[in-house]
Amino acid sequence: MQEFIQAAQSMLIFANHFNSNVFHLICLMEKDRVFLCRALEIAVQGVNEGGGPFGALIAKDGRIIAESWNNVVLSADPTAHAEINAIRKACEILGTHDLADCILYSSCEPCPMCLGAVYWAGIKKVVYAFDRKEAEKAGFSDKFIYDEIMLEPSSRHVRFLHIPGCCNGPDPFRKWNENENKIPY
Ligand SMILES: [Zn+2]
Repeated sequence: MQEFIQAAQSMLIFANHFNSNVFHLICLMEKDRVFLCRALEIAVQGVNEGGGPFGALIAKDGRIIAESWNNVVLSADPTAHAEINAIRKACEILGTHDLADCILYSSCEPCPMCLGAVYWAGIKKVVYAFDRKEAEKAGFSDKFIYDEIMLEPSSRHVRFLHIPGCCNGPDPFRKWNENENKIPY
């Protein structure tokens, strides 16, 4: 009888643990869905305001830190993608260049520029709704840029001219390494 009770208690503990893990996972997924829906709403709002059809937000510890839509044309800034805008805002609000504890929610898969910004910001998780193929169908193809990245600089469509040690000018890397007050990033 004692063995039966112990076995039953073990099963109960296992069941509770399993359920709590599943429940936790479902909650996380639901939160992802809620924030992603918000990114989509921002994208639509952006279109209504004359921006591009992209929205993004940065979340930390389950709350929204910053959100933005694409305003490339309105601000005459080709780098004003929703993700870049949101990252800049979040960094300003949090007072740091390091968003390692943050999640980026984007209405669409980030383009190569925004992907680079994600890595530079140290963001560990990106959640998006539409992918690059769907963006291409809407007239926003970044395949060309992805393809260019794979090429040697001299083979790219943009002319890259490498002049090593040009004019015996100053060496910013040496200056950086000699700077004892530098903040590595
Ligand atoms: Zn982008």
